[in-house]
Amino acid sequence: YLEWVSQPAVGNYIYASARDVTEKRLADEELRKTAITDELTGLFNRHYFENVIIDRIQKSDRTGKPLSMLLLDLDHFKQVNDTFGHPVGDELLRHVAQVMFHSVRESDILVRFGGEEFAILLPDTDLKGALAAAEKVRRAIEEQPLSSIGVRTASVGVAEHFKAESFRHWYRRVDGALYLAKKLGRNRVVASDDSEPLPLSASGLSWKRKWESGNKHIDRQHKELIEIGNQLLGLYEQQELPEEMTKVVERLLRHTVTHFTT
Ligand code: GH3
Ligand code: MG
Ligand code: MG
Repeated sequence: YLEWVSQPAVGNYIYASARDVTEKRLADEELRKTAITDELTGLFNRHYFENVIIDRIQKSDRTGKPLSMLLLDLDHFKQVNDTFGHPVGDELLRHVAQVMFHSVRESDILVRFGGEEFAILLPDTDLKGALAAAEKVRRAIEEQPLSSIGVRTASVGVAEHFKAESFRHWYRRVDGALYLAKKLGRNRVVASDDSEPLPLSASGLSWKRKWESGNKHIDRQHKELIEIGNQLLGLYEQQELPEEMTKVVERLLRHTVTHFTT
């Protein structure tokens, strides 16, 4: 990697100099990778997840493409530590991470949330697809045991993101499903009850025909304005985190600027 500096010189010439910055560049990349990687398993860490999740949600809301999440927790993991020792517990975590990695799509985002809990983010995947993926992962873990420990299982909660649903609300639904999977006897997949309504928008706005201006471009931007407004109302009603609301306010401001300048 070279860093170039150039400036005009006399006549038709420019003066340029280059410096080899390969080492610095590679060190920076390494550092960035370390910051988002879970040391034990090599999966993404929670820090990375928290950085990308809001953008993923907004992208899904904007494009209408589905987005689902799995939460996976190993069953009776404490027993493994107690029986075989902590290092073997760690080995099992690494093993399970590999098994999961090989049973999901390349575009899926695998995260070690901490301890023996994992999250998998499934872009472009609806609830039906997410259930299939969860079942595939669950079965793979059961069918590919670590020989030194024997068969271990996992419980999985699944939920598809509702349009305009806040992260916290969505996460609570997935976590609730996981809790139920444990309660029902473990080694199973449970989907969040999607009939549960969003605590959203008695006050939500919906587009009215009388607002149509006759200009498709303007109408499209007005509709987006309403969508962003609803998102903000929803977050407010769900008492969401300030950072999450800030992101939507920023989107609203960007949109408003675009609207009045184009
Ligand atoms: P359940 O089926 O209800 O999930 O039971 P469990 O024993 O898996 O659940 P619990 O949450 O009670 O225990 C999780 C254990 O995971 C507690 C802790 O000893 C262990 N643990 C957390 N992080 C690590 C780690 O990095 N390495 C190892 N070896 N063990 C860990
Ligand atoms: Mg746990
Ligand atoms: Mg557990």
